Amino acid sequence: MANDYYATLGVRRDASADEIKKAYRRLARELHPDVNPDPETQEKFKEITQAYEVLSDPKKREMYDLGADPFAPGGGAGAGGFGGAGFPFSDIMDAFFGTATSRGPRSRARRGRNATLRVELDLQETAFGTTRELSIDTAVVCTSCTGSGCAPGTHPDTCDTCHGRGEVQQVQRSFLGQVMTSRPCPQCGGYGSVIRTPCPECSGDGRVRTRRTVKVKIPAGVENGIHIQLAGEGEVGPGGGPPGDLFLEIVEKPHQIFEREGDDLHCTVEIPMTAAALGTNVTIETLDGAEEVDIKPGTQSGQVITLYGRGVRHLNESGRGDLMIHVNVETPGKLDEEQEELLRRLAKLRGEERPPGKFAPGQRGVFSRLRDVFNQH
Ligand SMILES: [Zn+2]
Ligand SMILES: [Zn+2]
Repeated sequence: MANDYYATLGVRRDASADEIKKAYRRLARELHPDVNPDPETQEKFKEITQAYEVLSDPKKREMYDLGADPFAPGGGAGAGGFGGAGFPFSDIMDAFFGTATSRGPRSRARRGRNATLRVELDLQETAFGTTRELSIDTAVVCTSCTGSGCAPGTHPDTCDTCHGRGEVQQVQRSFLGQVMTSRPCPQCGGYGSVIRTPCPECSGDGRVRTRRTVKVKIPAGVENGIHIQLAGEGEVGPGGGPPGDLFLEIVEKPHQIFEREGDDLHCTVEIPMTAAALGTNVTIETLDGAEEVDIKPGTQSGQVITLYGRGVRHLNESGRGDLMIHVNVETPGKLDEEQEELLRRLAKLRGEERPPGKFAPGQRGVFSRLRDVFNQH
């Protein structure tokens, strides 16, 4: 025989109707397309639903036990109540519309939605990582009914209209002749069962809204715009469905001094012309605390002093970026008489009263840039 429906549902051949129902429910919850939309799972879901359709119906089960498979081409033709065409209705629908319309009852359990939360961090926190307690408005499983949606002590009743199939069938006339169509059962909404006494706590949804606190560890090295996925920390689904994921969107607050570029940090230190010429020490406030930085005699404006390993920690890797200190030499603006006299003497001593001006190759000046602009038009 092509299909072993007992094996598909994982039950013994002498399983009771109740055992078959339970086995199907358990599998359907796992394999439902709403929970698990990948094609392989959908195919599996179709298989178990087909097996359940046969084994849950005493007449069909009896036929099947005698060796007739109502779903196998030609098997059980005319006798199984599958439209009398010799092959099952769902195959016709598949062939004509390319879709599976016969799915059996759908599960009340659906996957919960994902949630996104913005987390503002300062540079110190992104550089070294941190732990945050975040409070989120979310849905959690209702403790009163543990997600079933039924009032405590009650169970969903099998739907009278569709007898648990979740769909109703109609015979319609069409250009194909008589065609049987199926649609979700209007009585139960396709669930195959009806909750007559909904849980008063959650009104039958299986979950309640609440404010929850989650403690999250944010790794070192995250940066602005990065999303951290916390699997299963989103809101739970209706009917006790699995939770969605929580995404943390990192928003890095700008730092007063440091500008971040990847894992490197940049800052500018301004020193007077005399200090640049004579050399000095400056105290720089780094992420690791105050540090003395040596400015060598003859330091030029624009020169960069690199403090290796004083930047942001690499994300998921060892090591850190660097801290680049850009030196800006300040030319004194206002000079009193004595200072001017001193500078003039210095210029004379250095033979710099009328410097010729030195031009370095490769530096694009204002005029060549302007020329480029005109040449483009
Ligand atoms: Zn409840
Ligand atoms: Zn129904």
